[in-house]
Parts: sequence; C-alpha cells; structure tokens
Amino acid sequence: MNCERCGEDTSVVHPDVDGFPYYLCVPCAEEWDAVRDATTTVGSAGRSPGR
Ligand SMILES: [Zn+2]
Repeated sequence: MNCERCGEDTSVVHPDVDGFPYYLCVPCAEEWDAVRDATTTVGSAGRSPGR
C-alpha cells in the first residue's frame, strides 16, 4: 500500500490524524506524530477549538 504522504509503496500504518485515517509509512507516521506534537504544544494556547 502506498503512503499518502510520500507515496512510498510499503507497509503502512493508519494513525488517526485530526480524525482522518491517513495511511502513512512508519517514518512518515513518526515524523507526522512529532510535527503534531510540536504543533499541539505551540498552538494549543491560541488555537480556537473546533478545527
Ligand atoms: Zn511515507
């Protein structure tokens, strides 16, 4: 299956990203998770809920 981020045809995982079941290869999933964590930490104070 193809990763929806980098297009790599490999085994993918499907973490729920903002409620969407994206299919990501493991490196992308980890990277995405790190980005989400950073974004959440930085943006949680000023971000309006509901997005
Ligand atoms: Zn990927």
